[in-house]
Amino acid sequence: MKKHNFSAGPCILPQEVFEKSAQSVLNFNHSDLSILEISHRSKDFVAVMEEVRALVLEFLGLEGKGYQALFLQGGASLEFLRVPYNLLNVDGKAAYLDTGTWANNAIKEAKLFGETVIVASSKEENYNHIPTNYTIPEDASYFHCTSNNTIFGTQMKSFPKTAVPIVCDMSSDIFSRTLDFSQFDLIYAGAQKNMGAAGTTLVVVKESILGKSGRAIPSILDYQKHIKAESMYNTPAVFAVYTCLLTLQWLKKQGGIAGIEKINEAKASLLYNEIDRNTMFRGTAVKADRSIMNATFLLENPELQESFDKMWKEAGISGLTGHRSVGGYRASMYNALPLESVQVLVDVMKEFETLYS
Ligand code: PMP
Repeated sequence: MKKHNFSAGPCILPQEVFEKSAQSVLNFNHSDLSILEISHRSKDFVAVMEEVRALVLEFLGLEGKGYQALFLQGGASLEFLRVPYNLLNVDGKAAYLDTGTWANNAIKEAKLFGETVIVASSKEENYNHIPTNYTIPEDASYFHCTSNNTIFGTQMKSFPKTAVPIVCDMSSDIFSRTLDFSQFDLIYAGAQKNMGAAGTTLVVVKESILGKSGRAIPSILDYQKHIKAESMYNTPAVFAVYTCLLTLQWLKKQGGIAGIEKINEAKASLLYNEIDRNTMFRGTAVKADRSIMNATFLLENPELQESFDKMWKEAGISGLTGHRSVGGYRASMYNALPLESVQVLVDVMKEFETLYS
């Protein structure tokens, strides 16, 4: 029986994505060839790349608005440096919101390129909330934020109104909720959460912000070069890109982002209601900033850890252990995780309370 997979990433994908991608390794599109042995310039793969890039813009409501979708490599971590390389003016500054480990890693890279202003940080409170009331310098080349903090279980519910271009790391909540995506000038996300297999990163960029930094950019790091080459400047991560297409085709059948958002909200409220009701547990993130993707919680009595771990493992749950910087537990409820899996976890929590309170 399949496990209830709460892994933070790589993570659960829709079952039909596992099945169709497995089939493509054996025989892709009835070609009697594997997807792993055909040219990325072949008609069949070019069609995959074109469809997935178009679907991304369609889902985000960004078609015909001057944006391009790219499937690049190097993970979201490479975007931490590709962003300042392309956008930070040689004598300018960049503004960053520090909401967790990944935001911090992005800041470290930007500092190698120029002045980096941290407009606000929740580090002192172990990143348990999203800071508010900060000012973005008007002369910043861009403002960078992380929409969902995978490790700390917090999520930005709104984004600042500013004339400065907004860059957002959406690695762990892309395609999970409706937003006005046109408020962002550049969005990036590693595939391995809501999109597909690890190995590719989605970058959605408004073309008009590029080519202004005054820097010489190595070709592989230059967004404009990737756009010109239609996301095939070099050999793309063919299999990972194909899994992204399959996931987006699946998402369409769920009613797109609006359809999946309802299910994601139902999953998150089922679990958070139990965390708040059950006297054995305590949530770590400030309620207003709780993530609907990653719920982080602790045992009130850490001595009962072994007993609780035994119970959820016996119930077929996998991947619930929290990140070492927060401890406790983290339930990642990405798009493909069914509501039934969350119900199994909630039932275990109730049973645990009955046995040990
Ligand atoms: N940003 C966020 C919000 C993440 O959750 C992660 C990975 N968990 C990263 C960046 C880093 O992604 P990658 O491993 O693809 O470089």
